[in-house]
Amino acid sequence: MIRINDILDKIAGYNPEADLDIVDRAYIYSAQVHAGQVRLSGEPYLSHPLEVAGILSDMKLDSTSVAAGLLHDVVEDTHATVEEISDIFGEETSHIVSGVTKLSKLNFGSSQAHQAESIRKMILAMADDIRVILIKLADRLHNMRTLKYHREEDKRIAIAQETLDIYAPISARLGIFWIKQELESNAFSFVLPEEYEKIKSLINVGREERTEYIATVKSYIEHKMNEANLKCEVLGRYKQYYSIYQKMLQQNLDFEEVYDIIAFRINLDTVPQCYEALGLLHALWKPIAQKFKDYIGVPKPNMYQSLHTTVIGPFGERIEIQIRTWEMDAVAKSGIAAHWSYKEGKSIDENTGQAFAWIQNLVENQENFRDPNEFLENVRIDLFPDEVYVFTPQGEIKSLPKGATPVDFAYMIHTEVGNQCTGAKINGRMVPLQYQLKTGDIINIITSRGHHPSKDWLNFVKTVKARSRIRQWIRVQEKGRSLTLGREMCEKAFRKFRLNFNTLVKSEDMARVVKAFGFKTVDDLVAEVGYGKITPLQLVGKIIPKFGVESQKDDESIINKLIGRVRKKKVKDGVIVKGIDDILLKFGKCCQPVPGDPITGYITQGYGVTVHRTNCINALKMSPERQIDVAWDADSTETFPVRILIRSQDRFGLLADITANISKSGADILRAYTETREDKMVDTFFTIAVKGTDHLTKVLSAIRKVKYVLGVKRLDSS
Ligand code: MN
Repeated sequence: MIRINDILDKIAGYNPEADLDIVDRAYIYSAQVHAGQVRLSGEPYLSHPLEVAGILSDMKLDSTSVAAGLLHDVVEDTHATVEEISDIFGEETSHIVSGVTKLSKLNFGSSQAHQAESIRKMILAMADDIRVILIKLADRLHNMRTLKYHREEDKRIAIAQETLDIYAPISARLGIFWIKQELESNAFSFVLPEEYEKIKSLINVGREERTEYIATVKSYIEHKMNEANLKCEVLGRYKQYYSIYQKMLQQNLDFEEVYDIIAFRINLDTVPQCYEALGLLHALWKPIAQKFKDYIGVPKPNMYQSLHTTVIGPFGERIEIQIRTWEMDAVAKSGIAAHWSYKEGKSIDENTGQAFAWIQNLVENQENFRDPNEFLENVRIDLFPDEVYVFTPQGEIKSLPKGATPVDFAYMIHTEVGNQCTGAKINGRMVPLQYQLKTGDIINIITSRGHHPSKDWLNFVKTVKARSRIRQWIRVQEKGRSLTLGREMCEKAFRKFRLNFNTLVKSEDMARVVKAFGFKTVDDLVAEVGYGKITPLQLVGKIIPKFGVESQKDDESIINKLIGRVRKKKVKDGVIVKGIDDILLKFGKCCQPVPGDPITGYITQGYGVTVHRTNCINALKMSPERQIDVAWDADSTETFPVRILIRSQDRFGLLADITANISKSGADILRAYTETREDKMVDTFFTIAVKGTDHLTKVLSAIRKVKYVLGVKRLDSS
């Protein structure tokens, strides 16, 4: 078991200025709170955080990380709290510890393989400080090293499988290959013990010959490099059992067919030397053209750099060779950790930051932080800035775009769940439907049968699916409503001509009219009437000649007159009827609503929808069943008539001044009427056209500025 002094020595070795005190204090604290706890191996529990801290110091991490490593299980497994950690060790340490604790609490259950990528992303997204993940990996590494002490085989296999699915790939993504390899080969032996043993024994067979083979190839290469005065180190090693196994699996090969179980590496000082060495190798042995990869010129996203080539070796066999500088070698082994093992008191060097494409955004802000500790506190990884990862109540992970809401989630589950969604609980608490989901949220959608989507949802949903499903629902509803409305309008118009619309519906004549308008069914035509695109009188006009009304000419002129009358007050812009587009609208003369007024709509017998102000006396008298939600169309440029009364003392030129001020404030005067009263007072009534309540307020205050004007007010009814 590693001792705290070993760890302190190691840290002092790679960073003489490190704050060893915090590590020491974390050790003492951890020992106190874990006291009496025992690992499955029989060792005191403290051995685990100590080993984790040891791994972190192997990664040459800063003392805060090592301290957090010593404390990583105290919140989860002891009476200690995050607040206490914060009080004793500071905000930075407690932030990291609470990040690790949050990750430990995630329960992926028996997650399917297809969820693995989502889980990996979720873990990365949840840890907003990269050191949280480094500690989590160190934690998993030590747990894998001691996995054999786990008594239940099922648990062992599940943990090992999770390691293969989740943690090894995360290590690879962060470029920490030594952890990836140890995790993989360890997990492999638990998940597929037979295959593991088989490959192990196959490698052992003929090990002597292979050792000789490695020496031969090495000496060929070294000789060639020496000739060119290239100082280098050549290494030959067996590939990882797990990667040999995967190669067999992927390429469907038997072990005997996997030639390249040995890989060679050449480490040199500089990049030009790497390319020179490559040229020399290719002169020595014939390269397999398509197997050459230049990761020096084009580094992998995790910053891995190397030249990879495969050549036909001295015995006609394939040899894989990697060529890189010592520096690249360090990065290849430790990845991001190599860059995080900065020296305290010095900032991460700029080149490193620049080259690290996927944390580049963060490092770009580096100049803004004079103090490297401040920089670290503010560095929060945001690897997947456009996605959030959330759980279903069953623990399945769903990925949604950032800003997505419970409604998006509901539609992602099923269209009907979306359509009938009335509310949502996040982590057990009710939230509004506009709530923006956060990674880690557990979402419970509340539905009720017969509940319907709202057009308002379109204002906040983020996913294409939710949007298109809501639209689709609205279209169907619109058609249904327009059909009802259209039928009412037709019945009324036909009655005026002593025709029974409902009996005509099934007639040949109607079929012809439907065709003449270019529709397939009567319903389509009637819905179009409801939408306001065709007037019922146009329909009557098409039908009537067939019914021998006396003079066709007279008839048409009557109809045109009627149509003309209807048209005058026809479709108004400016108001949206919720759930319905293109409907016939008129505004209540009684209350003259203008944009900005609270309004409501009423479905009128035979005539679309009439819009009233919500406090209009007439509106209040109407049947609530006919009520329909309406809203002002923000994009409209229409003006609306409104009546106002101006009371003033009479004087010469008064009216001229008032009209001038009305015009100056951008309102048209539609009508004016003056009443002179006995006491030398005048009441002037204007109907003016305004854009909305704000505009009206402006006009009224302009009028108030006219000399002798005593009061101005808007009139509610004519
Ligand atoms: Mn642990």
